[in-house]
Amino acid sequence: MGLELATNFQSIMALPQFPAFLGNDPLHHSFGAAFRKVAAEGLSEHTGEVGPGVYAIPMFKPKSCKLLLAEIDRRIHQMPSSGPGRGGPNSMHDHGVVLGELGMGEFLLQLREEIVDPLAARLFADVGGEHLEAEYGFLAEYGRDADDALGFHVDDSAVTLNVCLGERFSGSELYFRGLRCDEHRQIPPTADEVLELRHEPGVAILHAGRHRHGVNPILRGRRRNLILWCQSDVAKQAARSCQAWCGARSKA
Ligand SMILES: [Zn+2]
Repeated sequence: MGLELATNFQSIMALPQFPAFLGNDPLHHSFGAAFRKVAAEGLSEHTGEVGPGVYAIPMFKPKSCKLLLAEIDRRIHQMPSSGPGRGGPNSMHDHGVVLGELGMGEFLLQLREEIVDPLAARLFADVGGEHLEAEYGFLAEYGRDADDALGFHVDDSAVTLNVCLGERFSGSELYFRGLRCDEHRQIPPTADEVLELRHEPGVAILHAGRHRHGVNPILRGRRRNLILWCQSDVAKQAARSCQAWCGARSKA
């Protein structure tokens, strides 16, 4: 019993050994402590909850963000120009690339299993964060030659990890407008559901996939974010009808 507990505790405390392309010691110096407080000890109040159900956690060092972008660029340039992954990652983004198609599937799996799963089980249990089973990752790009803004939408995920990797930009803030079940997506937000966040390189934002959000127009520069949709079939089925977490229900 004691041994079993200790083993479980250790496994949840362990931080990932990321691939070499992220460089040595890629995690932000404060990440380990924040991760342990939330994932191992369940102290969710110690995360940066920047609005209801939206968490911002410094995750990667700036140097590692640059290394990751360089690795993605290297892999993009090796791809045939008309090959898979170059048509835009999904219906919302014309630019950016699907990272699984760049051979980065294992890294995405590691991000979900070793970072998102333990956090989501604590922070997003109500929307299915304990049952994540698949992931879809892409690089979203905003800039004059890329996507300018992104309309109001929900993600095809139970929980989304959105990490800004760079570069220099102004504008392009991420805004949120409340969590909704599939039935109530069109119900307008209340004042306390309106939230706007500035991205900072290295900082990860975690939110429920059905937390409605969008991106303001970019004013200058270029922003590139790693987005990981963490999916759960159980959560997807549940969200089709109204749930206790739906903002439309609690406001009614
Ligand atoms: Zn609802």
